[in-house]
Amino acid sequence: MFTQVSGWPRIGAGRALKFATESWLRGEIDEATLQAKAASLRLNAWNGMKAAGIDRIPSQDFSFYDGMLDTAIRFSAVPARFRIAGASRLETAFAMARGTPERAPLPMKKWFITNYHYIVPELDGDTELRLAESPEEAFSGWLEARAAGIDTVPTFIGPWTFLSLSRYGDGLGPSSFADGAARAWAELIAAAARLGVPEIRFEEPALTLDTGESENALFVRIWERLLAARSGVRITAGFPFGDIRDSWDAVAALPFDGIALDFVDGARNLDLLRERGFPADRELGVGLVNGRNVRKNRQDDSVALLREIARRTGAPLGVETSCSLLHVPLSLAEETELDAPVREGLAFASEKLGELVSVARKAENPLQSSLGEGDKGADGFRAPGSEYMNETVPFRSPSRSERRAIQAARFKLPPLPLTTIGSFPQSAEVRALRSRLRSAQIDRSDYDREIFGLIRDCVLYQERLGLDVLVHGEFERNDMVEFFAESLAGFAFTRHGWVQSYGTRCVKPPVVSGDVRRARSLTADLAVRAQSLTDKPVKGMLTGPATILAWSFPREDISLAESAFQIARALREEVLELERRGIAIIQIDEAALREKMPARKADRHAYLAWAIPAFRLCHASVRPETQIHTHMCYSDFTEIIHDIDDMDADVITFEAARSAESLAETLAREGFETAVGPGVWDIHSPRVPSTEELTERILAMVRVPGADSGWIDRLWVNPDCGLKTRGWAETRASLENLVAATLAAREALASAGKGAPGGRP
Ligand code: GLN
Ligand code: ZN
Repeated sequence: MFTQVSGWPRIGAGRALKFATESWLRGEIDEATLQAKAASLRLNAWNGMKAAGIDRIPSQDFSFYDGMLDTAIRFSAVPARFRIAGASRLETAFAMARGTPERAPLPMKKWFITNYHYIVPELDGDTELRLAESPEEAFSGWLEARAAGIDTVPTFIGPWTFLSLSRYGDGLGPSSFADGAARAWAELIAAAARLGVPEIRFEEPALTLDTGESENALFVRIWERLLAARSGVRITAGFPFGDIRDSWDAVAALPFDGIALDFVDGARNLDLLRERGFPADRELGVGLVNGRNVRKNRQDDSVALLREIARRTGAPLGVETSCSLLHVPLSLAEETELDAPVREGLAFASEKLGELVSVARKAENPLQSSLGEGDKGADGFRAPGSEYMNETVPFRSPSRSERRAIQAARFKLPPLPLTTIGSFPQSAEVRALRSRLRSAQIDRSDYDREIFGLIRDCVLYQERLGLDVLVHGEFERNDMVEFFAESLAGFAFTRHGWVQSYGTRCVKPPVVSGDVRRARSLTADLAVRAQSLTDKPVKGMLTGPATILAWSFPREDISLAESAFQIARALREEVLELERRGIAIIQIDEAALREKMPARKADRHAYLAWAIPAFRLCHASVRPETQIHTHMCYSDFTEIIHDIDDMDADVITFEAARSAESLAETLAREGFETAVGPGVWDIHSPRVPSTEELTERILAMVRVPGADSGWIDRLWVNPDCGLKTRGWAETRASLENLVAATLAAREALASAGKGAPGGRP
């Protein structure tokens, strides 16, 4: 039984690659120095895997920025605007990823179910896919490792995944490039044959998305050609991040030398294997050590799973991580400050190597344990009955429409009430305060006083400006999840647990370490003080359970649903304290709720069945006159409009500045009941929108076709996300224009006569 890893964290200990790359970007070191640093990190990684006893060690998985980006460059898919004379390959990559003063960067998207982002390649009429590298360049990592005496398996992104994630010029799509991709990837395989590379692995996670007949057919067409052209090179394929329910038979029929399946996020693969079998002459890599979470593997379950698979298939088996280890931190060794019981339960990338080897040895040894009968291995990873929770979380009473009348009488807001999403610019001043506190240059009480000064200025500023519902500005929070994780019981923090998010940006997610409880008040004192500055309502500001979980490392011994409910109960206590202490409007952000929705349609119900009730639980018992807001960083939720209504919030604001009108139209047509603030100012760019432009957008929302008579009373005006990343100058200018635009829109409405939206008869 072999052990295999398909990818390794690139950033190195102490985020060495990030700092080296940033020095290069600033011109402090030259490219050769940066390359030498990267080479030493790769060598370290290979040596570590070899010493741990891993049989198949990956090479070519390294990247300075992103693997999809490198794949685009490798296969000549560099958009015309980035073919820059005299630029090195690395310079081209960074120009594509970050843009240059004259060139807009390629977009970035979430990589499957991880919190990693890839660069989206652009394929247009101008693109001709072909290998743009010599064999020595294409397999430089493999050669480098071999020179150091280490055999590796070059691991690349497969053609189907590349094609399915790319963006296309008009009238083009994956099928336009299928033959080109088959030719280009065949050139890569030919290059391997020329160098004597014995085996290549291709990652094809796109098959874990919903895959229709025509997509399966394309996958097969490309791979039949590639496998026919393998000229002695062994070819294996990996399918991380889910199951391959739509293409099991197609994959099994292709003559790959081996395939690797995910039995963690793709627990359903086990059912498929039981139902449909697996060819006995094909190697099967069993991905059973979780590559994107940090919990210790339950080795008895893993051994049981392997034994069942062995019994059913007779295929030669390998033990793998469920996906590349890119998505977990490097090593627990330096986490000396974690509580021992917490540390005991964790495994980072380095520790997972030991798990692979240990599971393989145990599974090979028939005397090792009495296990081997049951199916209990995979079942342990599944979430129990979330349906049940759906029924038990009540909706608020009275209903939303009755509450609307009660709240209208309480707040007496003008039509098209104006608010913001929560944070105001986190200027250098705020960051300096935080670092002075960290380095003990100021003490906690000085820090708190300074922060409150910023809050006061911010509240008074909004009042002067003429906003209707104010916020305190979130200056005390560095991050919307970390802030809550730090204050709730049940979270642990690592010191070096960095994971790449995109490019040189890394995040250090909190670890859910136990049952989550509210050990103390989280936000209420500051909220009350901020409210005391003004007669206008200041929103209490919380982060919701789905978002806190989405950006943490969750537990595996209980379901996500159960953790979400624990967090929701803790937040409910906070909500009730805020209400008791006079906070009239409370916003519970679910920035990540939509983003974390499973890509497969059939799996969405199970997710929404806990995410939505968990949100409801946070506020289900507040009084009718308390107004609950939520915010979501996503606009594309047309498919789940009624689920969003079931969050039972009174008001939702969302990120829609680029599509506010079309979304408003859908919401109006579908009878969306929650009051809505589709963001009219896109805060993701420093551009200041003009008053005219904003007025037009607001009026377009007001006048959407198909709206009911109450539509206009349910519309809010706001930016489309928090202002944390903006500067004060553009924030002031934009907010002034937003106020002027709202006043103009209100005037237009008043003169058109109240009642019918937009003055239509
Ligand atoms: N209230 C948060 C803020 O304004 C919401 C951030 C987000 O949606 N990502 O920063
Ligand atoms: Zn947002």
